[in-house]
Amino acid sequence: MTRTLASQTPEKMGEQVLLKGWVHVRRDHGKIVFIDLRDRSGLVQIVLTPKLAGHLHAEDVVYITGQVVARPDQLVNPKLASGTVEVRADRVELVSKAAKLPFDMGGVDLNLELPTLLDYRSLVLRHPKVQAIFKVQAVLINAFREALLSQDFLEFQAPVIIPAIPEGGAEVFKFPYFKSQAYLSQSPQLYKSLLVGAFERVFSVNKIFRAEPSVTTRHLTEATSLDAELGFIDSWTEVQDLEEYVVKYIFARLSDKCAAELALFHATIPQVPAKIPVIKLRDAQEIIFQRTGRDCRREKDLAPEDEREICLYTTEKLGSELVFISHFLTAKKPFYVYPDPENSEYAYSVDLLGRGVEWSSGGQRLHDYATILEHVKTWGLQPEDVELYLQSFRYGVPPLGGFALGAERMTMNILGLKNIREASLFPRDLERVDVRLSSLKK
Ligand code: ATP
Ligand code: MG
Repeated sequence: MTRTLASQTPEKMGEQVLLKGWVHVRRDHGKIVFIDLRDRSGLVQIVLTPKLAGHLHAEDVVYITGQVVARPDQLVNPKLASGTVEVRADRVELVSKAAKLPFDMGGVDLNLELPTLLDYRSLVLRHPKVQAIFKVQAVLINAFREALLSQDFLEFQAPVIIPAIPEGGAEVFKFPYFKSQAYLSQSPQLYKSLLVGAFERVFSVNKIFRAEPSVTTRHLTEATSLDAELGFIDSWTEVQDLEEYVVKYIFARLSDKCAAELALFHATIPQVPAKIPVIKLRDAQEIIFQRTGRDCRREKDLAPEDEREICLYTTEKLGSELVFISHFLTAKKPFYVYPDPENSEYAYSVDLLGRGVEWSSGGQRLHDYATILEHVKTWGLQPEDVELYLQSFRYGVPPLGGFALGAERMTMNILGLKNIREASLFPRDLERVDVRLSSLKK
């Protein structure tokens, strides 16, 4: 008999089926036992005699044969795709016995503290609500790809081992590399920009590494970056328009494909108007000052509380839970940043904030070789450190720009998770690398 998935059982009313999965929950009711069987499609209720149920308990892997029958009206479970039916088992094969669980996994919520969620990752990832996080993330990343492929972008694989870090900013991981040393890439930025010289439009889904020195709820040391870059732009606002298109495309896919997963978190897709508002950094700081009295007007960046406040403002006043903040200080950005010709103290740079937290950074980049070289020197760098980059621009690159969205940030923010670690399958941070799979431990 071929396998039937839990979600397919309503289509097989009255039929004999073979189900394969895990015991999710067992409930003993005297002469009958109920099991919620879990497979990749969801849950289905199985009815067994105590004899057939034997000593089955949570996470045992079983093959069950039985007949699909309708549930009595009052027992229909509208929350389950298979909630109109149950399967009366007549044969149970125990395929893999599970050890006794360290905690109960049967509830709709998994009420565990973060360290437990992370220490028992292999087990915890089986819980439907935890799985929902990664289904949402997978749809999100796939939608990012689809959106850009539809606009004729080429996907590239960014190198992770890099020879030097000319960008400054975040802390980096350095490691021995044969007789020399190398670094883990904190961003594919330089590669994606120089690739515009070859392919015009490129994107990548890649790991970035940052030796974030402090523990926060929104930083990982290994994160997933969704990077895009395009050439032949007529204005820096084209970068922002592309990002808006991509983000809205992602929202549409999440609405279509992840309604059940979002519902588990009581989460909604962020509300955005036809056009996401754009506010210059200095204007945002003025608004924050007017609203809170907190004077951040001379700061070079928005602090986390400022990001929250400006999002509250746009949500209340402009009906947008997302906002672009533009015109950051040129001097605080990397050498390739494009200064606004009207006031070169500020740059054509733009962050996207969502529900109080930064989702992305991006902007227009310099394309004129001589200006880039001048910036390299002003920024205190050696031209040979960025020779590969310079080489591309020496031979002609069109006006260009791009952005990088953080996949875990977005997942955390959309689902309302308290900590970004919950949005990473195997999170790495200051305190946590998974040594349990490492041969060094043996
Ligand atoms: P933040 O100011 O929040 O520390 P950043 O400005 O240093 O972020 P960027 O270099 O602009 O980060 O990276 C682009 C995006 O990548 C960020 O907006 C964020 O979504 C994501 N990102 C960056 N660093 C991390 C990190 N350590 N952990 C998780 N996501 C990150
Ligand atoms: Mg940033």
